[in-house]
Amino acid sequence: MSTECHVVVVTGIPGSGKSTVCRKLELLAKERGINVKVVNYGDVMMEIREQLSIKSIETRDDIRKTNIETQRRLQSLAAKRIADMIKETKGYLIVDTHMSILTEDGYLAGLPSHVLEELRPEIFVLIEASPEEILKRRLKDKSRRRDVERREGGVMEELQFSRFMAAACAVLSGAAVKTVMNPPGAPEKAAEEILNLLLRREHP
Ligand code: AMP
Ligand code: MG
Repeated sequence: MSTECHVVVVTGIPGSGKSTVCRKLELLAKERGINVKVVNYGDVMMEIREQLSIKSIETRDDIRKTNIETQRRLQSLAAKRIADMIKETKGYLIVDTHMSILTEDGYLAGLPSHVLEELRPEIFVLIEASPEEILKRRLKDKSRRRDVERREGGVMEELQFSRFMAAACAVLSGAAVKTVMNPPGAPEKAAEEILNLLLRREHP
């Protein structure tokens, strides 16, 4: 594995604004001439799904509803593909993913030990917002089939579960977990906070 690439895992439950913050981070880094690339784990799973012609998955929101063996297979192949990208990357690679995925079988770990071994992340970032705000964003988002939890208590459980998973990841990998708040209207601030975190590492 290249030591020229710092791998940072950015996670957040649906509605936390994780992908928006990642987009802002990429732009901010570009403005400052820092090589930050974001890869979305779900996108990589969709690419692999395309190659394997898995018909039960049409959109990214179908992934968590398909049978768990298929999800695990895609998850494992995606980790290997991202590991290949890491070898080719100089700078910072941000992996936009989830600590846990609410499937019909229950919570699936987004980063089980074999995935951590492929990615070898240096930091885990948990993007969070208040449960009320997350619920509001979920109800507003028409672009996605966010048929996910729509109760505030349910959102709280997902937030909590992601924190438990983050603690497990910290133990398994030795990497630190940083919570970054993404309140309404300030994704740039959250992006800035993550960029500062990256720059604490030696610039490759
Ligand atoms: P996103 O657009 O980031 O919400 O990701 C889309 C979907 O990809 C999620 O709802 C999950 O089904 C799947 N996904 C993303 N990351 C992982 C992961 N690490 N392990 C398993 N499934 C994942
Ligand atoms: Mg997203």
